[in-house]
Amino acid sequence: MIGPFSIARLPRIVFGAGVVKQLPDLVAAYGSRLLLVTGARSFRASPHAAPLLAGLAAQGCTIDTVEITGEPSPEMVDDAVRSFGGRAIDVVVGIGGGSALDAAKAIAGLLRPGNSVMDHLEGVGPETPYRGPATPFIAVPTTAGTGSEATKNAVLSRHGPDGFKKSFRDEALVAAVAVVDPDLLAGCPPELIAANGMDALTQLLESFVSSRANPLTDALALSGLAAVRDGLLAWHDGGAAAAAARARMAYGSLLSGVCLAQTGLGAVHGLASPLGAFFPIPHGVVCGTLVAAATRVNIAALETRAPQSPALAKYAAVGRLLSDRDSREARDDRARLVDLLEAWTERLALPRLSALGVDAADVPRIVAASRGSSMKTNPVVLTDDEIAGLLAARL
Ligand SMILES: [Zn+2]
Repeated sequence: MIGPFSIARLPRIVFGAGVVKQLPDLVAAYGSRLLLVTGARSFRASPHAAPLLAGLAAQGCTIDTVEITGEPSPEMVDDAVRSFGGRAIDVVVGIGGGSALDAAKAIAGLLRPGNSVMDHLEGVGPETPYRGPATPFIAVPTTAGTGSEATKNAVLSRHGPDGFKKSFRDEALVAAVAVVDPDLLAGCPPELIAANGMDALTQLLESFVSSRANPLTDALALSGLAAVRDGLLAWHDGGAAAAAARARMAYGSLLSGVCLAQTGLGAVHGLASPLGAFFPIPHGVVCGTLVAAATRVNIAALETRAPQSPALAKYAAVGRLLSDRDSREARDDRARLVDLLEAWTERLALPRLSALGVDAADVPRIVAASRGSSMKTNPVVLTDDEIAGLLAARL
């Protein structure tokens, strides 16, 4: 039975080893005044930077640059909009990890309107509807994790006890083009491969069991999960198969963004919002350390309170897919999924929350701040006690 669904806007997607060479031509379609948003290090130090900048210069592009250090804050976005809003920028190109891409996306959204991003941020401030116009945005990821190149939201953070980690979200913010070149991922250190890869895995899993999943996103989520199964540990471990493995992860990460933009996420991302705001923990590390425990709690809650939920069969299907085994009993396949996620968490050395500065006294306020947009599409409504138990299991 295929029910009604709709698929929101996606970027034009250009995928493959070496496709970054097409970037000057892709930029030219939008004009010659370019704002380049990068992270602080990786891309500028990579062998791809010089030929790309030369190619853009050869086309007569004028290039202004913004470097994003760490996770983007509303102030970074507003500063860039103030600095470059008057320069008639034709196109914004973001090259980097999720932080650089999210910053670029928000800056592209506000260069022309010129107002503060705080006007639009979900859950803080006036939440004024965004009316655009957005400047065309080209997203070029250099990590495999967030899928930001395919989504309509930019996550911005303010850290500390009154901190937040919230989205500026609008369909007009979706990149015009996503240029996904697995070669740009070469040189990614193992701890980033682990954390970002577990983020992609979590996003695929949470999209697949989301209460807003549909047959089209299900097909994409399963394809992405198979790629993560074959790519994550192989890339992390290095060796001869690493190039093929990182292409699989670039693909899986892209699909995780495509899916989450349609379906929303779940409990892990509901908790990632306050955890990432209250503590200086990278997003992928939060996801990686919680995904096994959250999956265990979700499955137990569904088995007791919603045994007819389609999410139960889906968890079993992911257990079979990731383990490449079929135990003929859905309950056993689900148990195998949790075991496998726990084994990957250990193998990829994701730290426990206590090692990241979280202790038992913090749990109540994390639980209280966890019911943002992601938690609303979790396949079952978890109680406060269940969420607290999930956190306690990873302290
Ligand atoms: Zn995520």
